[in-house]
Amino acid sequence: MLPRRPGRLMAAVLLCLLSVTAASTRVQADQPRPVLVLYSVGRLLPAILEFDRGFRQHSLVPDGQQVELYEEFLDAARFNGADYETALSDHLVRKYAQLRPDVVVVVGREALEFALRHRDRLPTGTPVVHAVVTLDDLARLGALPAGFIGVPTEDVFVPTVEQALRWHPEARRLVVVVATAVRRDRLWYERVMAEKARFEPRVTVEVLADLPTADVTARLRRLGNEAVVFTPGYHQDGAGAFMTPFASVQAMRAATRAPMYGAFSTYLEAGIVGGYWTDFESQGREAARAVTQLLAGAPPATVRLPASAPAAMHVDWRQLQRYGIHEAALPRGAVVHFREASLWERDRNKVLGALGIIALQAALIGGLLIERRRRRHAEVSVARSRNELAHASRLAVAGELAAALAHEINQPLGAILSNADTAELILESGVERPELLRQILADIRRDDVRASEVIKRLRTLLQKNEVERVPVVLDDIVTEVELVLRPEARRRGAQLVVWTPAERSTVLGDRIQIQQVLINLVLNAFDATADLPDSRRTVTITVQRHADDVSVDVRDHGPGISAVPVDKVFDSFFTTKRSGMGLGLSIARTIVEAHHGHIGVANAAEGGAVFTMVLPYAVLAPGTGRAA
Ligand code: ADP
Repeated sequence: MLPRRPGRLMAAVLLCLLSVTAASTRVQADQPRPVLVLYSVGRLLPAILEFDRGFRQHSLVPDGQQVELYEEFLDAARFNGADYETALSDHLVRKYAQLRPDVVVVVGREALEFALRHRDRLPTGTPVVHAVVTLDDLARLGALPAGFIGVPTEDVFVPTVEQALRWHPEARRLVVVVATAVRRDRLWYERVMAEKARFEPRVTVEVLADLPTADVTARLRRLGNEAVVFTPGYHQDGAGAFMTPFASVQAMRAATRAPMYGAFSTYLEAGIVGGYWTDFESQGREAARAVTQLLAGAPPATVRLPASAPAAMHVDWRQLQRYGIHEAALPRGAVVHFREASLWERDRNKVLGALGIIALQAALIGGLLIERRRRRHAEVSVARSRNELAHASRLAVAGELAAALAHEINQPLGAILSNADTAELILESGVERPELLRQILADIRRDDVRASEVIKRLRTLLQKNEVERVPVVLDDIVTEVELVLRPEARRRGAQLVVWTPAERSTVLGDRIQIQQVLINLVLNAFDATADLPDSRRTVTITVQRHADDVSVDVRDHGPGISAVPVDKVFDSFFTTKRSGMGLGLSIARTIVEAHHGHIGVANAAEGGAVFTMVLPYAVLAPGTGRAA
């Protein structure tokens, strides 16, 4: 081990040795250029990894030369004192005796101080690049000797706290966690103590210095929104425990809900909101830039460097969300980390696809809704037309029945007239026959009722009342049809036979329209048998009950349906009659289907056509007689 101040002779020998070695390496241009990086701290700190990443990315040397990096660690937080430093310096001199570094990079204030103290042991003219040193550090160290260059960083404590207080206007307390046992922690403590007054009386400043970590976390745990925490982290706590500053910040963060701000980029990983700083990676890049120029042969005094590395506000996007800090409140040039990409940014194509599908679906649904409305309108107007058509068809039927009905009315009118004549004769004869007169008046009244019944039925058929959907007894409708058509049957010399079961059937619908269907079927049957002998002019209406529905057959003994297939007779305008319209059966089918039933036709084996109308039973609410 060499003494701290080696004897002159020994130093001269050493320097001489180093110079000779250096000269021999320089002449071999294809040899890698050695660069020694001396870190203030221990190995593997997150800050070092970041610095190293930036440094290596930019450590390019002109003319394709290679750089060989050598790293040394002072570990100044844990080891210090004159003996340690002397031993280390001796060790380094010996270690690098064969291999004179072309440039020495010192990272952090302690490494810079070490280099300053031991610069006489460096080969003459070796340039030193400092990094991770603040303007404040440089101010305390005084002017640097020739050959020492670097880009200092700005002071970050004040701007970070200023920004934090702007973002948390409700905060009444500023809690700063520091330590003093280790020198580099103490430097922070001194800076905080020097600057803290500027934040009062806006907030009460509480400096937690040198507390055991357990006490620090206990104190922080009690804080809420009323406080803002700032820490540069520490290497050794009040209980004497060493830790990385990152670990100290992690412990604090886990304990408190209050927003926390820090001094270094690495603390973002620990969960702080953010802070002003020059991140270690860009400091590494800056140092590499200086090294590159020196290796290219530029004398240190001519290397062009900025006066300081600007600090930028860095924030964790997730913490911004947590504390409700809007991005609009970020200062210019703020760097946002850990921003969760929005769905749009992450899956733009998928989102576009999904939006497209949604738009398509919306258009489709819109189209369907319009279509449905149109259909509703169409249905309503079809129903209206159907009813009007049905009414028109009933008028036609009424016209067809007019002759028979006129005859039907004529009969009671004739009887009334002759009864009146008889009564007059009795009165003129002067014979008192009150019994007979009473009998005659009763006959007149009965005939009058008969005539008015016929007119009533005709009127019913001609009515254009709105279509109803009410429970109606099908057997009653069949009976009414029989009464309406009996005169016509008589006029045509036909027989109308009606069979109804003992139990009556209720269906849901419109009495007049169902009547109309049956009248149509019977009149067609009369037509089909018009030219046949009397024996075949019988038309039978049969009502039959089934499990779910009730059917009405109208059968005749005519020639049967000649159309193929037989269902064709239900087509509109299909007719085989000279003056036929071909609408009766198509209207009948529409009416039956509107009643949720069906109608069909078949030719009977023994001749003639059988039309069958089937209607479902009305489902009645118990005890009400109304449709359920
Ligand atoms: P139209 O009576 O004006 O012809 P319809 O629609 O009532 O119109 O009848 C259509 C056609 O069905 C008739 O022209 C006839 O050819 C046939 N048809 C209807 N009923 C019978 C039946 N009972 N026997 C034979 N053919 C029938």
